Formats: sequence, structure tokens, C-alpha cells
Amino acid sequence: MRKYMMAGNWKMNNTIAQSKALADGLKAAAAGFSSKVDVVVAPSFLSVSTVTDALKGSGIKVAAQNCCWEKDGAYTGDVSASMVKDAGCEYVILGHSERRQYSKESDALVNQKTKIALANGLKAIVCVGELLAEREANKTNEVVEAQTTGCLSGLTADDMKKIVIAYEPVWAIGTGKVATKEQAQEVHAFIRGLVKKLYNDAVAQSTVILYGGSAKPDNIVELLAQPDVDGGLVGGASLKADSFAAMVKAAAEAK
Ligand code: PGA
Repeated sequence: MRKYMMAGNWKMNNTIAQSKALADGLKAAAAGFSSKVDVVVAPSFLSVSTVTDALKGSGIKVAAQNCCWEKDGAYTGDVSASMVKDAGCEYVILGHSERRQYSKESDALVNQKTKIALANGLKAIVCVGELLAEREANKTNEVVEAQTTGCLSGLTADDMKKIVIAYEPVWAIGTGKVATKEQAQEVHAFIRGLVKKLYNDAVAQSTVILYGGSAKPDNIVELLAQPDVDGGLVGGASLKADSFAAMVKAAAEAK
């Protein structure tokens, strides 16, 4: 009953022209799968409008990589959820580990951002995941539970229809060190159990949980074969149209 999702997080890469070229390439290579798989790309704020235009009619959706926790006003350098929506985004990625690490974002802040995103008609891809030291100290579940509970605090079962959770072990992001399929499944099942505890079984069964962290065409198939892995949040491998399209295709065929 869950539709798979393949989301490309372009991070701080690509000029406007490069973003347009990548979007055009994806439109040609991946649009055919967009009825089977939710395909999402997250360019930088500056490229959102261009990418939205380039992808018109393709079924491929656009996400922002962040938004402000406040509605509007004197927040120099920030971009509001309503601006993100206005520029054509359907999604926003929130709580990515790079924002937690470099911009010191807390679960409470991610929670505020999530609420304002939903209030402005966006869907949120909320990221959680443990550091290597936390995994080695057997604290993975504890960390993921605190992040998930904190980020979803105050959201209703109805709100959860607009939430995608991305499990991204921090030690796997950009390192080439992918979680094993067993490690991914274990944490995904744990998160789904947590959503059941926080809401109910129907919400848990319909929540899409993505895996992120060095996902690539050659490891995505076995990850997608896990019962609680519903797709991927892909960084490096989403920067080339052919490799991302291969992952979209794998998701279309896995369902
Ligand atoms: P990666 O990034 O695929 O380059 O590891 C994933 C992410 O940070 O979303």
C-alpha cells in the first residue's frame, strides 16, 4: 500500500544551468517511472524555479533542502515555507544531518519547521540517524527514537499523511560506507514500530520510510527488498541523471 519514493538531494551542488541540464536529463530518463514511484529532486533554493519549470508535465516533484522555522519577517538569509511552496516545491527536506551538524539544528527546531511546512501546504521529508559513536555505543534506537519523537511532536495522524521519514545513518552519508540491508531493515522496522506507538498501526503502515547514506544503483536493489525500506534519499548518486534514473527504475521494479 506504500508507494516507493526515490528522492535526490543535490545538496550544495550545481549552478542554475547545471541544475537545468540535470533536470532535463532526468525528465528524459526517469519520468516514465513517475506513476509507479514518487520521484523527487531537491536542488538549491536558487535553482528551484528553473528545475520546477524544466520538470513540468514529467510527474517528477521538487523539494527544497530546508526552510525557516518562522512564517516571515526579519530573518536575513532565510527562506520561508510559503516561499518554498510558491516556487513550486511539493516537499521540503528537514533535519538533514548536515544541518544538524553544521547549523546546530535541534529536534525542537526541526519540529517547528515541520509544522510551518505543513501549515503552508508542503510535505516534509524528516531526517533522522545516528552518529558512528552512537551506533558503536549501542545507542542507535535511543537516538533515533528521541529524534523521531522530537521532530514529530504535536503532529496529528492526519498530519502524518504529509510526512516521509528518512533514516540516514550519519556514518554512511557521503562516505561510501552503506548500511547493510540488515542494519537498514532493523532501524526502519524500529521507526515503523515507533510510529505505531505514537499514532496507530494504520499510520505506521502508510508512512514511507526512506533509507539514505551512500545509496547507489548497485546497492539499492537489496535495500529496497527489505520489507520496511520504502525508497531512498540519495546524495552523490543523484547528481548524474543516469545513476539516479537507474535507482528510480529499481524502485519501480521492486514494487
Ligand atoms: P549520500 O547522501 O547518498 O551522498 O551518502 C545522502 C544524503 O545525505 O541524503
